[in-house]
Amino acid sequence: MTKLSDRVLSMQESVTLQAAARAKSLKAQGRDILELTLGEPDFVTPRHIQQEAMAAIENGSASFYTVASGLPALKEAISRYYETYYGYSVDQNDVVVATGAKFILYAFFMAVINAGDEVLIPTPYWVSYADQVEMAGGKPVFVEARQEQHFKVTVDQLEQARTQQTKVLLLNSPSNPTGMIYTSDELTAIGNWAVEHDILILADDIYGRLVYNGAIFTPISSLSEAIRQQTIVVNGVSKTYAMTGWRVGWATGQTDVIAAMSKIISQTTSNLTTVSQYATIEALTGDQEPIEAMRATFEERLNTIYPLLNEVKGFEVVKPEGAFYLFPEVSEAMRLKGFDDVTVFTNDILEQTGVALVTGAGFGAPSHLRLSYATDMETLKEAVRRLREYMEEM
Ligand code: PMP
Ligand code: GLU
Repeated sequence: MTKLSDRVLSMQESVTLQAAARAKSLKAQGRDILELTLGEPDFVTPRHIQQEAMAAIENGSASFYTVASGLPALKEAISRYYETYYGYSVDQNDVVVATGAKFILYAFFMAVINAGDEVLIPTPYWVSYADQVEMAGGKPVFVEARQEQHFKVTVDQLEQARTQQTKVLLLNSPSNPTGMIYTSDELTAIGNWAVEHDILILADDIYGRLVYNGAIFTPISSLSEAIRQQTIVVNGVSKTYAMTGWRVGWATGQTDVIAAMSKIISQTTSNLTTVSQYATIEALTGDQEPIEAMRATFEERLNTIYPLLNEVKGFEVVKPEGAFYLFPEVSEAMRLKGFDDVTVFTNDILEQTGVALVTGAGFGAPSHLRLSYATDMETLKEAVRRLREYMEEM
């Protein structure tokens, strides 16, 4: 047998993708499975975006490589996007596009992390951050944001975790998995602290336009020039535009970091698939009405399902403000059912009820599990009904 690299041996497979694959394989075997695993909109990409992609195929422009870091016209559209939505300008040279926000994050860590550099990661965190930091030779340092503090870290906590090796602070607001949003006051305090200690902020803003019930998302980069200089912003179209399959992500920020990420992209994937770049130009600059319709649908699902889930015995949920996940605390539910490991508990739910969820363990949250409501209302209601029935059977 081939001796595999230490790097891959110490890595975990993504728990979200693993849970989704397991649900799909059980479904293929004929089991009655309700898939609430993946954070993937259940809508198809809006028609006008598909049409622009088809035009790029038909007129031949999608046939060719582009500049590795992305088409100038796409960079221009991204730059205008920040001006339109968040009121600050981004130079087109300070934009890099790649194969999904996930790969953009990887390119970022590869570009800035040296062996032993520390990255502060507030928990609960999205599953891929810690493994990516480790792949780049860095050390993830977790800062616990408990449910009582609405899953948000404070400057005091960050200061306690800071060492001479701290290089990056990762912020993801609205958060996957908690749906929490930092206020502009909270972000100003965190941003000023990062500027003071010269810690680079990585702001994963991918859920920034999926906010509900009047909640406001403020990008940390919009708060001051000094904070903007200290921040690399990551974003993409997967969630907002129902374009997960097109694999589009980008980063904006400091020229030297963006150039370093572009170098990595030029030696790994080359450019993001050309047809996806044309589709993204249309997504960002074309009709936004379908996007608002999808957002409003997510909001309606949240407002319907949240109170029902909170009534499930032993489940305690903070109402999310954005993204499309519910993240119940289930320690009482586990106790009632005789489990002490949330992954085993999540598997038991799947076996007994057919409801496929994601264990909180992969998010650094051993007393929680995640439910994605990026699926239709009927499935959601049935899933919660089964969970209630399961928790009532003793
Ligand atoms: N960041 C967060 C917080 C996410 O939930 C995801 C999941 N898709 C990504 C980044 C990566 O998105 P993609 O690779 O589809 O652009
Ligand atoms: N980000 C989504 C999720 O958390 C998609 C899967 C993944 O990339 O991890 O479910």
